[in-house]
Amino acid sequence: MSTRTPLMAGNWKMNLDWKQGLALVEELGDHLKTVNTDAVEVAVLPPFVDLRTVQVAVEAGKLPISYGAQDISAHESGAYTGEVSGPMLAALGATYATVGHSERRQLHGEDEQVTNAKVKAAFAAGLTPILCVGEPLEERQAGKHVEYTLAQLEGGIEGVSAEQAAKIVIAYEPVWAIGTGEVASADDAQEVCRAIREALRALHGDVVADAVRVLYGGSVKSSNVVELMGKEDVDGALVGGASLKAEEFAKIAGYQ
Ligand code: PEP
Repeated sequence: MSTRTPLMAGNWKMNLDWKQGLALVEELGDHLKTVNTDAVEVAVLPPFVDLRTVQVAVEAGKLPISYGAQDISAHESGAYTGEVSGPMLAALGATYATVGHSERRQLHGEDEQVTNAKVKAAFAAGLTPILCVGEPLEERQAGKHVEYTLAQLEGGIEGVSAEQAAKIVIAYEPVWAIGTGEVASADDAQEVCRAIREALRALHGDVVADAVRVLYGGSVKSSNVVELMGKEDVDGALVGGASLKAEEFAKIAGYQ
């Protein structure tokens, strides 16, 4: 039996202005009253402009969640127009910084070098990176999904110490399952989440491998979360579309 606390993280993507974000967290707070949040950690990953709103709601005790950003600058400060740094996120009380989401990789050309720099920037600011990895459809069809995903993992965490690695969150998100309604089977999710854990074991040993939370992401809903969470190496979910509906996201969080 794993001692890892499951993490259910809602990625709002580029949705909800601050007023809509406030309405969602207030509604989520009501729905989470029926969820044992000692047994599962619930987090939201809003757009940057909504983070302060979420911080105020959380600090006012409106809901028992953690929160983080969908991206982070690789740089600490300076002439990087449009970017948001780790120290700025830490000052907002953020716990997490998402790194290497497939939409960043595909639409903004972020490669392993960039994700690695962002992982390190998150750690330097005292944040926990949620490193997203996962294969496109062609790689799965070619049977190379594990190899492809592990190369992203190893590139993303290169040069990270064992102490840091023990705190990272990895989200296995097969690209073909993101926003498509096509969820990976629980066995497929388990296969890759296990391979990720074993790669961490080979790199950093048992303590790290057994501590790291490996999430599955890609069309997670309340109707499929129980089966996914029944798998030994699936420690939670990164939830996109379904995290925009408070009742549905709370049902996912309360899957037990
Ligand atoms: C995501 O954006 O990380 C994601 C998994 O999206 P969805 O749940 O909508 O597939």
